[in-house]
Amino acid sequence: MLGRLEVWGGTTEHGRACYYVSVGDKSLLLDCGINIVTGEMPEIDYDKLDKVDCILLTHSHEDHSKGIVELLKKGHPKKVIMTEETGRQLDEMYSEELKQYAHEFIFVEKIASHLEWFKLSDHIELCYGASGHMYGAIWFLIKIYDKTIFYSGDYNRQVQILPFHVPEKSAVLDPIDLAIIDCANGMQKMNAKINRREMHDHMDHALRQKGQNLFIANRFSKVIETIILLREQYPNLVFYYDEALYYEIVRQVKSISLFKQFRDESLNRHSENFRAKWFEKANFIFLDQDVLYLEKQLAVESFLQNGHNQMWLTSKASFMKHQDELQGPSTERVFFCDIEAHQGVNGVIELLNALNINKALLCHLDGHENLKSVKFLKSKGFYNVDICQIKASVAF
Ligand SMILES: [Zn+2]
Ligand SMILES: [Zn+2]
Repeated sequence: MLGRLEVWGGTTEHGRACYYVSVGDKSLLLDCGINIVTGEMPEIDYDKLDKVDCILLTHSHEDHSKGIVELLKKGHPKKVIMTEETGRQLDEMYSEELKQYAHEFIFVEKIASHLEWFKLSDHIELCYGASGHMYGAIWFLIKIYDKTIFYSGDYNRQVQILPFHVPEKSAVLDPIDLAIIDCANGMQKMNAKINRREMHDHMDHALRQKGQNLFIANRFSKVIETIILLREQYPNLVFYYDEALYYEIVRQVKSISLFKQFRDESLNRHSENFRAKWFEKANFIFLDQDVLYLEKQLAVESFLQNGHNQMWLTSKASFMKHQDELQGPSTERVFFCDIEAHQGVNGVIELLNALNINKALLCHLDGHENLKSVKFLKSKGFYNVDICQIKASVAF
């Protein structure tokens, strides 16, 4: 039977993930995100959308989930499959909308454990596992009739505490006809260990100068893992979290079984330090705030003019957007540091070697990084890798 993929968003751009797959009379939608910068929805074919069996959602980030909320408003498919954790995050992010519009959220853990195949409906089987991108994020293996599809979602194997499930352990015997693989880091050779070492060097430098380390981070991200690790490394220093981030840390530390070894002690420390007064006393400040909002805060507090060393840990996009606005002597003390939450070509190679993939499509990367990555992979003998344009239709 012939399979078809239609890219409604997410390739040749960073975000707006949305893939329509069909085999025979069965079809699914994989994620439905918006462009976070412009708010743009994917290029949806609504006739096809209304016939899909359901939507599979990998995680709560807006570039994967926010389009679903827009679809619910318009009365389009309501059946969405995700982890319980993603469901909880969506409830927090879109509480008003979800109260108002009918939706049917199905949590995978209620049906099967990770790496275990289960029947979703006639001729559709699913398998999932933690993708290491953040708490709650998963990849999917999908069988529709005789076709097998792998969708990595946002994917990163270099986890330190977060759960991760190796897809090759899911006992896929058949070759994978189509794999849609996260390659957001492109040719960037990121290495979590080197990254972290570099980050610690900068932080230590700041601390020696009696400066502070400022982190701006989405609480629904890998930052929680970073905080726990930093707490272990600097047990005697003072940490400050804003309220939203604090409650998320406490919640995740309580619920992730792998965090248990840190649990009691970490929780005590978090509670103690949460009471640390605003940033005057803190060595580390973590804020789950919009940079724009924070910038106003900074201006009010004259934080930038105080000569503190600062570290911005935020998305590149918002950093670049605000770089112009952050002028003055302190700007040079701003060091950008990325927590690796995606993968680049090396991660893709690992997957291509581990799984028997007929056709692979790179996603989540923009500009000419695309072509460079594909060229590089082909030069290494991976001729089955490609990229395709938005609205493209690929047979498999
Ligand atoms: Zn993401
Ligand atoms: Zn993403």
